Amino acid sequence: MLADLHTHTTASDGELEPAELLALATVRGVTHLAITDHDTVAALESLHSTGSISLVPGIELSTCWRKTGVHVVGLAIDVASGELERGIRRQQDARGRRAAKIAARLVRLGLPDPLPAVAAIAGDAGIGRPHFARHLVAEGQAKDMRQAFRRYLGPGKAGDVRSEWASLTEVIGWIRSAGGVAVLAHPLHYGLTWTRLNELLADFRAAGGRAVEVVSGRQDAELTSRLAALAGDAGLLASVGSDFHRPGTPWAELGRCAPLPSGCRPVWSAWE
Ligand code: AMP
Ligand code: MN
Ligand code: MN
Ligand code: MN
Repeated sequence: MLADLHTHTTASDGELEPAELLALATVRGVTHLAITDHDTVAALESLHSTGSISLVPGIELSTCWRKTGVHVVGLAIDVASGELERGIRRQQDARGRRAAKIAARLVRLGLPDPLPAVAAIAGDAGIGRPHFARHLVAEGQAKDMRQAFRRYLGPGKAGDVRSEWASLTEVIGWIRSAGGVAVLAHPLHYGLTWTRLNELLADFRAAGGRAVEVVSGRQDAELTSRLAALAGDAGLLASVGSDFHRPGTPWAELGRCAPLPSGCRPVWSAWE
């Protein structure tokens, strides 16, 4: 079995079409794939499990814990759930308002209004900061995505507008009402100390969260062991995902995730 339960397509900020992602996952030998686009399930409408891949319906919802922006993955969700659908609409509205705010802030920094070009890059997807980043790179305002985030879009910069997301309790509630499992995404990306991460895991579980990504992309083996222990102590199941967005990123390559440490209770035990 090779599970990759955290990936993106052009339905949000990924760069492969859903069918292209499925084809690449097949080549890579992935057996269990979750497409978890930001605040949308649009990619899932056109896709079905194939002979060799079992598709787990997923989503990644943006929210906030205390002052920290965090992401919650929903797995094995019923995409037809009305409550989830209403939640998605709310998040997409928040994305639209946020995009306008980010654009206005960039204009105040002296840049030409980026919104029309950014909307064209996003296409049918809700606008995310990576769409701004691609535009800034194309315009020569940054040499690559990383620099675009460091200068304009990352923590403390103009694009750092995140107050409008639904609360942690709300997004977990939507996932549960769609029959899904709420997973705390990429726990090491939030810049929290181990003590604060423990507090987040406790709050996440108290709000109805059931799992945490013990393996997220290419990750130091020692950190993986530590997260496995933390998950076990917090009474959470363990998930695994690359957070793949595009080919050519060795730290987040589709299907290239280490197996869960033995002793972890895997997240798929919740639905299999
Ligand atoms: P948003 O959903 O608009 O809040 O944008 C968050 C997305 O931006 C994440 O899911 C990543 O895909 C991407 N991202 C975050 N930080 C960086 C970074 N430093 N460099 C490149 N991409 C990033
Ligand atoms: Mn993303
Ligand atoms: Mn994320
Ligand atoms: Mn992601």
